Amino acid sequence: MEPMHTCKLFGAIKTILGIKNAIPIVHGPVGCAYHMRYLLTLRGGSKVKICSTQLSQEDVVFGAEKKLKDTIVKVDKYYKPDLIAVLTSCSTSIIGEDVFRVVKEIKNEINAEIIAVSAGGFEARQNEGYEDTIMTLIKELVKPCKKSDKPLINFIGMYRGGPDLKHLKNELKKMGIGVNCVLTSGCNIREIRNLTKANLNYSFCDISAIKPSKFLKKKFGMEFIDYPFPIGFNNTYRFFNKILDFFDIDYPLEKEYAEFKEIKDKLIKNLKGCKVAIISGPTRAVALTDFIIELGMEPVLISIDLVGEKTLKHLNTVLSNTNFEPEILIEPDLIQIEKRLKDTDVDIILGGANELSFSFTYKIPVVDVMHGQAKTMGWDGAREIARTILKNIKT
Ligand code: SF4
Repeated sequence: MEPMHTCKLFGAIKTILGIKNAIPIVHGPVGCAYHMRYLLTLRGGSKVKICSTQLSQEDVVFGAEKKLKDTIVKVDKYYKPDLIAVLTSCSTSIIGEDVFRVVKEIKNEINAEIIAVSAGGFEARQNEGYEDTIMTLIKELVKPCKKSDKPLINFIGMYRGGPDLKHLKNELKKMGIGVNCVLTSGCNIREIRNLTKANLNYSFCDISAIKPSKFLKKKFGMEFIDYPFPIGFNNTYRFFNKILDFFDIDYPLEKEYAEFKEIKDKLIKNLKGCKVAIISGPTRAVALTDFIIELGMEPVLISIDLVGEKTLKHLNTVLSNTNFEPEILIEPDLIQIEKRLKDTDVDIILGGANELSFSFTYKIPVVDVMHGQAKTMGWDGAREIARTILKNIKT
């Protein structure tokens, strides 16, 4: 009744907004674009451009191809984007507006590259919005390139820039590994076209990056890695180690990892036995579970909003060497999570802004691991999450 996921259009918009100088045009009534913009700018105060064809009642009954064409031309002329993505919404998906034909017809009349994605909210949840849009970008834009003779990697399904991405890139640079394209967080259209220059793809999202990674392997022979996700000291070590192994690079990673032993021992001493609820997306939920076990804490409730084909397998691997038997909620709604939180003795929640209401109601501190400006990945992220837990934990 109270869903914890959103619609396909959200995923499509978020994917496009991660590309520099790209503009999504939502072919639908005004609310779809407005509410998405509101949601995506609420926390960071950032400015995003989401255009709309602003359909009327008559348009959603009889179709509005002309309005769409006029909007595309206007957006191309006014904003001069590198890429326009036409996205259907519920109303235009229901009437079957042929946006693919419109895009084909107008392609030569505009300067921007243009793609279309069927993104009606009722078609699927946000994960398919991410996945379909990435697949469309790959199919429409990526071309075969000469492989780089230096170690070069793509991050697939990473929608988070900020300090996390900067930190991972810096660490990889120290190892002599370049990041070719981050699909999609701060990449540009040229980087997408040249995606196949890289020697390796790393999937950052269980629910939207595995299919594109498999496609890139089949079509262009690009190898990919999909696990682990670099949250926590152990996971960060394994993440870099896998990449170093792939490129056969000799690097003192063990030494780097060993430098955190003292910090870790102190954290374990203070956090041992604390009970944790994790409320998150699949890839993060698995990595966070691993991390809190690493810190000596106990996962008592794990709520995962959507699951990918490998999520539960990875989660089982994490839990298999422990005596913990947390309650696992798969794709729950808000009422279920609230009920379980109320009945479970939890010292801290690892989640996002959505969980603040639980925090106020049940007086359980929340560590926000979803905010784009929070440090969560790599060595820096592990230190930061642990410090924040320590600062906030119920005593
Ligand atoms: S569910 Fe449909 S109407 Fe609602 S925002 Fe998504 S696309 Fe728009």
